[in-house]
This record gives sequence, C-alpha cells and structure tokens, in this order.
Amino acid sequence: MLAVVIPMLALSVVGARVVADRHEDVRRAERVRDAVQVVDGLIHLRSALFAEQVASELLAPQWRPPDEVLQATEFGRVALRGLGELEQATDAALLAVPPARRPFEVDDLALVRADRDEWSRSSVTIRARLRPLAEQVNELITFYTAEVRTTAIALGDNDLIAAGTTFQRAIQLPDTTGEIVAAVSDLWVAPPLARVRLQSTVIGAHARYDTTAELFEAALFEPGGRVAEFWAGPMRMPESLANLLDQTEAGELSDPQRKSGEPLAVGFALLEAIDWTFAADELSLIAAEDLTVLAGDVAADARGAERLSGGLVLLAIAVSVAGAVLFGRSIIRPVRRLTDHAERIGSGELTLEPLPLDGPPDVAAASAAFNDVVGTLHLLEQKSRALADIELDHPALRETLPGELGAALQRSTEVLSTSIAERENLRSQLLHDATHDSLTGLANRGALMDALAALGGGDGTPSAPAALVFIDLDGFKLINDRLGHAAGDVVLQTTAARISDLAPPLATVSRLGGDEFVVLLPGSSEAAAAEQLAVDIVAAIGDPIAVDAQVLTVRACAGVAAVDDADPVPGPTHLLQRADLAVYDAKAAGPGSVVCYDAAFGQRVAEQTDIEVALAAALDPDADELRLMYQPIVATTTGALVGLETLVRWDRPGHGRVRPDEFVPIAERSGLIVHVDRWVLRAVARQLAEWADQPGLADVRVAVNVSGRTLLQSSFVSDVQAALDSYGIEPGRLSVEVTETALVTDLALAAAQLQRIRALGVRVAIDDFGTGYTSIAQLRALPVDDLKIDSSFIRRLGETGDRLLVQMISDLADLLGFYTIAEGVETTAHVDALTAMGCDAMQGYYFSRPVDAKRLAVWIADRRRPATSS
Ligand code: C2E
Ligand code: CA
Ligand code: CA
Repeated sequence: MLAVVIPMLALSVVGARVVADRHEDVRRAERVRDAVQVVDGLIHLRSALFAEQVASELLAPQWRPPDEVLQATEFGRVALRGLGELEQATDAALLAVPPARRPFEVDDLALVRADRDEWSRSSVTIRARLRPLAEQVNELITFYTAEVRTTAIALGDNDLIAAGTTFQRAIQLPDTTGEIVAAVSDLWVAPPLARVRLQSTVIGAHARYDTTAELFEAALFEPGGRVAEFWAGPMRMPESLANLLDQTEAGELSDPQRKSGEPLAVGFALLEAIDWTFAADELSLIAAEDLTVLAGDVAADARGAERLSGGLVLLAIAVSVAGAVLFGRSIIRPVRRLTDHAERIGSGELTLEPLPLDGPPDVAAASAAFNDVVGTLHLLEQKSRALADIELDHPALRETLPGELGAALQRSTEVLSTSIAERENLRSQLLHDATHDSLTGLANRGALMDALAALGGGDGTPSAPAALVFIDLDGFKLINDRLGHAAGDVVLQTTAARISDLAPPLATVSRLGGDEFVVLLPGSSEAAAAEQLAVDIVAAIGDPIAVDAQVLTVRACAGVAAVDDADPVPGPTHLLQRADLAVYDAKAAGPGSVVCYDAAFGQRVAEQTDIEVALAAALDPDADELRLMYQPIVATTTGALVGLETLVRWDRPGHGRVRPDEFVPIAERSGLIVHVDRWVLRAVARQLAEWADQPGLADVRVAVNVSGRTLLQSSFVSDVQAALDSYGIEPGRLSVEVTETALVTDLALAAAQLQRIRALGVRVAIDDFGTGYTSIAQLRALPVDDLKIDSSFIRRLGETGDRLLVQMISDLADLLGFYTIAEGVETTAHVDALTAMGCDAMQGYYFSRPVDAKRLAVWIADRRRPATSS
C-alpha cells in the first residue's frame, strides 16, 4: 500500500511544478510568435522604404538609366511605373503593422515626401530624408528580434533557439546588401574623379557583406531547409554585381576615363543588386515563417504536456487519498488516532506530532511503524521540494531512506538531481553562447546592442552617460589571406585579451564581427578618459604577436564617441554610428590613429566631402581652376638661381583661392592627390617647354612635390617619363620632392621607385627633412640628391640647440654627399647663419614668395639688371 501512496505523493508535488512550468512555456511560445509577426511586418516596411529611397535616386532625371536597362530587372520594371505606386506600398506596409508597434505614422511619411522634387536633386539629401525612417524601423526590428531570441532561450527548445539565431542573422543581411547598393549607386552618379574614393566604400561594403554572410551561413538552421535552399538560389550574388565588385577591387574602375559601356554595366549591376536586396528581405521572411511554425509546435507540445501532467497529478492525489483512507479503516476504531493521522497525511500534512507508543502491543508496533513512515514521508517531501526549487545541494537530498523503497527512491532522486543539474548547465551555457562571441569569448553584437539599449534615450528622454571606443584592425584581411585563418584567429584572440585587460571592470567589451571591437563604458561621458583608453588599447594591440614561428605586428585605429549633453544622441545605436564615423576618419589618418567624434564632426565630414567633389571637378581638363606658383631657390655662396619649387593653388569657384594646406591633406586621404600630382607634373612639363627660349629660365631646374601615395603608384615612373617626353623636356631639369613621412609606409618600395626616377635622370629631394624618423643608415641607402631642411628649424635658428642641429644636418649631408637646401629663409639673420654653416642653397620669403610665371619673369629680369648694369 505504502509503495503506491509514497511515490504518488512525490509525483503530485513534482507534477504541480511541471504544470506551472508548462503553462509558462505556452505563454512564451505565443510571445515568440507574436514578436516574429511584428518583425515580419517591419521587414515589409523596411523593404518598401528602401524601394522608395532607391527609386527616388534612380528616377531623378540626372541619374536615370535608360529604359531598356530598367526593363531588364524586376525592380527596374516596378520603378518605371513611377513613385506613386511605391509610396502607396510603403503606406500599406506601415498600416499593416499594429498601431502600438509602429515606428512612425503615415503623416510622418507625408511630411518627409512633401518637397520631393526639391530634394531629389541630390542623392545625399534623398538618403538624409528617408534613411532616418528606415533606421527607426531597424531599431524596432533589432529590439523585437532580441526579444524573440531571449524568449526562445528561456524556452530551452534547441530547434527554436537555432531557428532564432538563423533569423537574427538573416535580418542583418539586407542591411549589408543595401550598403552595397548605396555604394554602387554612388559609383553610378559620381563624377569620374571621385571614383577613386568611392572604390574603397564599395570594397568596405563588400567586406561587411562577406562577414555577415559568413556569420549567417554558420548559423544556418536546418541545412537542407527552405532558408538554405533560398540562400543557395535567389540569394546568390548576381553575376553582374560580382563582376563589378571584382573590377572595383582590382582597381579597374579608379581610372577617371570611363570605358565605353561601363556606365551601363554599373547601372545594370546596380539594378540587379537592388533585386538581390529584396531577395535578402524575402530570406528574412522565410526564416520568420520557419520560426513561427516552430513556435507553434512548441506551444502545442507545451499545451499537451500541461494537460497530461495535470491529469497525472489529479490521478496521483486521488490514489494517495484513497490509499490513506483504506489504510486508516483497516485498523478499526481502537486505533482512531492512527486513522486520524493517516487522514491528515492524506491531505498532505506531514508536520505531525509522533504518535505515543502506548496501548496494545500491536497498536504500539503499528504506531512506531507509522512514525517511521511519517518521518520518511517528511524527508521525501523535503527532497521533492529541494528538487522543485533546484536546490541541488540541499542536505535532505543526501539523506537516505530505509529499506528497498528507500534505496529505490534515493536512486531516483539522484537521477533526477543530476538531470536537473545538466539542464541548468545547458541553459546557462546556451545563454552564454547567445550573448558571446565563440572565438574570443567577448560579448557579441547582440549583447552590445542590449547594453546600448539599456542606456535608454531615443524617445525624447536623454540617454544615460556613456562613452564608446570602436577599434578596427588594419590589414587584418591580409593576415587572413597570407597566413591563413588559424593565424587570423590567434590575432583576434590576442587582441581581445589585450583589450579586456585594459578595459575597466564595468565596461562591455565586445566583438562586432570581423576585426571590429567595441568597448562600451557606461556611466562616463568623459570623452577624454575614453580617448586615453583608446590610445592605450591601440598601443597594446601594436605589441608583437607570436603566431607559430612568426612574429606579427598588427596595427589598429580607434574612434571614440561619448554621450554629449550639448549634442544629444538621438537613439541608442547612434552612439555606435558616431564612433564608427570617427574610426573611419581614424583609418584615413593612418595606422595607430585615434579620432574623437564631436559636434563639429558631422559638419566637417560634410565639408570634406564637398571639397573632394569640387576638387575632383577641378581636375577636369576643361575646369581651369588649378594654378601653379614658383618659388626660387638660390645658391648660398653666389646668390645665383639654382632652381624653382612648384606649388599648386586652387581658385575654387565661390570660395576664392584655396591654399594647399586646406585641400592637400583631404586629397591625400581620398587618393585624389595622385591625380593632382599627375596634373601638376604635366602642367610643369608644359611650362618648361614654354620657357625654352626665355633667358634665365631656359635651363632652370624645377621641383615638383610628390605625395607618398603618388610615389607608390606603379604607373608613377612611366607618368614622369610620359610628361617629359610629350613636351621634349630634358630629365635633368626636373626634380621630385618627397617628404620623409611619405617614405615610411613602404620604405623598400619607395626607395625602388626613387631609384627608377633617378635612373631617368630626374633629381630626387627629401622634403621637410628633420621632421620624420629617417635614420642615418636609411638615409645612406636612399637614392637621394638633395636634403631640404624643414623651415621649423630655420625659424628657430636663434636657439642654440636648433642651430647645432642644423649645423649637424648640414655636416652630415656634406659627409654623405647630399646637397642641402634650407627652407623658410625669411631674414638676413637666417641668411648669415646658414652661410656660416655652409648650407648649399636657400629658399624663402627673404628671396621671394611663390609667384606665378609672369611675376617670376619680372623677378628674374630685376635680378639680372643690377648684375648687367654694374
Ligand atoms: P612644402 O613642400 O614644404 O612647401 C613649402 C611651403 O612653405 C609652401 O607653402 C611655401 O609657400 C611656404 N614657404 C616658402 N617660403 C616660406 C617662408 O619664408 N616662410 C614661410 N612661413 N613659408 C614659406 P604652400 O605653397 O602653402 O604649400 C604647402 C604644402 O602643400 C607644401 O609644403 C607641400 O607639402 C604641399 N603642396 C603644394 N603643392 C603641392 C603639389 O603640387 N603636390 C603635393 N603633393 N603637395 C603639394
Ligand atoms: Ca616641397
Ligand atoms: Ca618643405
């Protein structure tokens, strides 16, 4: 009898707990389904907004591809029918989202579109108008997807978790395909010379897509399923786009001269890429459907289990009550106490006083046995409770019960407690995996987004103070390509460890994927502190890393952004975007740079883009905006003219004369400098030809400034040769100035290029000498004729230390056989000091400012006159 009653009692205690759990699971599964449905609606909306944005750009008269190109793609055909239909589709998609979950209202859309004709003149404005809406949609998508995932994890259903991961990765794809579309569409509308810069945007977007696609593929649930099928089919990158990306990556599109048919090829690839982006949205929708079906299954399972365990519990209670009653009756009246006890136990009461051991011996024996039973049941209850509460180290679980039943129960308790322990471990493991990057153990993108979302802000309320450091490795792709993925993994792991070591305890250190890391510092808006951390991290990453038998040095850049009261962050992800913008700038500034985002940053980025576009136009052969100025270089001992330095000026329409300090650095970053230098080279050659019959100028040597980027171009030497040849200029009349800093990127290649230049018979000068880090050993090995001592030393000639330094440079140059030219010579004192030191030549305002060709002729005539008249 007891053998039935006791397990039944245990079953009812555990069973009740199971019923409650199942009920919670049903609710969770329903929540997953609802959230997926909202995301589904939001994806449709995002897709419609994207269509509207791209069509606005594409249909603007200045960029519209020919109709036959439009006809060739699905989106093109839709676009041909006009914007009205697309606008209606966006409105409908918005209205399909339940009102409480909408990111904005139809009125907001109408407002944005109000003066479409006006703003559709610039693709930048189109995006500025429509993108913020799309971003709001994206934020909601991220939010609900995170909810889907956390709920799936709480449900503990492995399939559902896997499908949730697939889904989360899938919805990231359209972002990156969209980025490629934006980059290619910029390429489509760009003035030819801006394409060099856009090339890197395209390559960057492609790389980001590759990373996202890789992550997606790794997370693919059900390799044979519908998502996988779609991935392998319609989601394959269109061939026209793949070709275009290959060409871009090979640098074939950077030539400002567009090949015939090329614009159409770009247009066609663009349109196919748009179709492809819509396919990416469809992929997300299929993943969403899978998830809905699975969530439905889980809900149904949980509901079934709830019913079954509920029934079992009722049955168990009935059996134990009946057993207890039968038991009480079988001992008749004299043992009423016993019956009474039994009934109370039957109703679940176990904290009973032990029965006194008096009365007839049979009753006493029965009472003693009964007391044991109560003790046993009590222990059993404690065990069940400990299990139900997952208190696996509860002492009751280790206490054994008497007899065979006791042994059996003890065994089952052990089995139960181990399996519960395993389930708990698995659950926390899953939770860890879902929020951490498996390679480095750092938080992953999802976890970072959660941490950012936890800062609040975005809905009119200010975000909590926080700062963010965004770190990006330089040349990581190269390491992966050349040394293999295993080496790449070691680099990423080492980097992760170094960042974690430096980050303060409360920081969230995360890997965004690829070679991007982010440190979120909550509670601090101190940009300065974050910047210091960024500098330390970049320095630590730069320490050598041992990979197998090799030692690698990896460089990194960092961008810093902080929540700023004066310029509030409009939403949680904007802090990340700002840091991203800053890191982009840091990349351009060179390896090891750290850049802070501030209020003026956005403005500055826009101004620089303006300058780039205008400068690209200025380089057009018909533009007539660039001018050349010449500054004389004179021999110290004789005062004779020994050369001229060419300095470029830009008469920018609407802005007046722009000095090189303002546009050369920007041109350096975008790569336009290569074209500027090429332009200058040809213009100088033409000028030299014009001077061929002018006294005093017919054999003067002219120096041109050449940027490091230009020097490293493979075509540089042939460009110089071609410029000289086409105007019949003797190579000895040209000199090339390169700064010390230009040599550091790739000293060996730079030296080889200089060697070839010199082999043509052209002279080579090191510019701004003394400001870089050229060692004497390097200097000896460099194929160089002249050293131009930087003007900063000349300006401080009055100071003993600097005077000694210039003296030393001059002596060293003598020793190594270099010709020295002092720059920035402004006063008689400078001239006297440099003469005393034995410096070979001088250049500066003391002799002449840089002047145009006409004024130069006058300067030369003036100097010849006193000589002839004396
Ligand atoms: P740089 O090559 O060191 O050129 C010398 C600069 O010092 C010129 O400034 C010149 O006007 C200025 N300068 C000359 N004598 C004196 C003086 O006595 N006192 C002072 N305070 N300044 C003097 P500029 O023309 O503004 O050019 C600035 C820089 O822009 C140049 O520095 C050079 O690095 C770059 N640059 C100019 N033209 C070109 C070009 O065609 N290609 C490239 N890649 N860079 C160029
Ligand atoms: Ca120079
Ligand atoms: Ca210089």
